[in-house]
Amino acid sequence: MARIVGGPVQRRAQGWDGGEDGSESSGGIAAATCVRVYAIIRVSILNYFPASADDSRSAAESLGHTRLQGASATISKQNTMEDPWQECMDYAVTIAKKAGTVVCEALKAEMAVMVKSCPTDLVTETDQKVEKIIISSIKEKFPSHSFIGEESVAAGAGSTLSDNPTWIIDPIDGTTNFVHKFPFVAVSIGFAVNKKLEFGVVYSCVEDKMYTGRKGKGAFCNGQKLQVSGQKDITQSLILTEVGSSRNPDVVKVMFSNMERLLCIPIHGIRAVGTAAVNMCLVATGGADAYYEIGIHCWDMAAAAVIVTEAGGVVIDATGGPFDLMSRRIITASSSVIAERIAKELQIIPLERDDGEKED
Ligand SMILES: [Mg+2]
Repeated sequence: MARIVGGPVQRRAQGWDGGEDGSESSGGIAAATCVRVYAIIRVSILNYFPASADDSRSAAESLGHTRLQGASATISKQNTMEDPWQECMDYAVTIAKKAGTVVCEALKAEMAVMVKSCPTDLVTETDQKVEKIIISSIKEKFPSHSFIGEESVAAGAGSTLSDNPTWIIDPIDGTTNFVHKFPFVAVSIGFAVNKKLEFGVVYSCVEDKMYTGRKGKGAFCNGQKLQVSGQKDITQSLILTEVGSSRNPDVVKVMFSNMERLLCIPIHGIRAVGTAAVNMCLVATGGADAYYEIGIHCWDMAAAAVIVTEAGGVVIDATGGPFDLMSRRIITASSSVIAERIAKELQIIPLERDDGEKED
């Protein structure tokens, strides 16, 4: 190896590649290029098969700049080894963007609206179509992975979280907004391994805002790092919530009673954007100080829970206990002081868990 690589390169260094007048011949340039390309390829391959690390070193050392390229390949390999889910996250961003384009196109057209659990729990063909696009695309690339998708669950699939890498998908978070063309709808893709959330991608497609969060690596919106407001005084806070789709008078009464208790602390105000994922991302941006909801599902909150946590926020159960993805309850806030104070004020509505397990 050293002899082959060293030959023409050394000759060039000593001017031996030149013609009689000292200029380089085209044959000399081509030979040198071939050797350099060969060395680069060999170093790259050897970096992926470290059993031949000595060969890799000698090959790299035979070309000064190739040593740098070899080092860069090693770093890239180390990153992949350190973060085995980066490829999945990159793919989630691509798929969310693609899905968001379909959702935005569908917003321009007439749509047929169907109902699920009750007359105010809406679904459209676009919800179902987009979920199929997302799941089939991911399955093709990661065939061994598992899925929990809102519309698949509505069609009878299970929603139990296993240790297997699992994609938790809401194809349109904010279907009522979508139906009314109220411009806040999001594609939400969360990812868990060993029942722990690893990353989340929320694409608020009408706003063209791509929110991402990777465990331990921060949260971003269109590449800009996110940070919660840090507000600790609830009397200075703006709180987001949703009233949900139940119109059972007893449930509605509790929802409003909860809001009343918070408003009378007093707080600055309450807002409802119409999508849990975007509400949570707004807490991540610092645009709101907290968000709570009782009655949502794992696909509404999986992705954004990572985003808001990575932006420095706290995520807890609405009872004040630890966050439980399957509990159908959440409080997220810019500080634990605010999160705990909200928990203290909330009356809990009993609901069936997403995984069907009984409450403790
Ligand atoms: Mg949905």
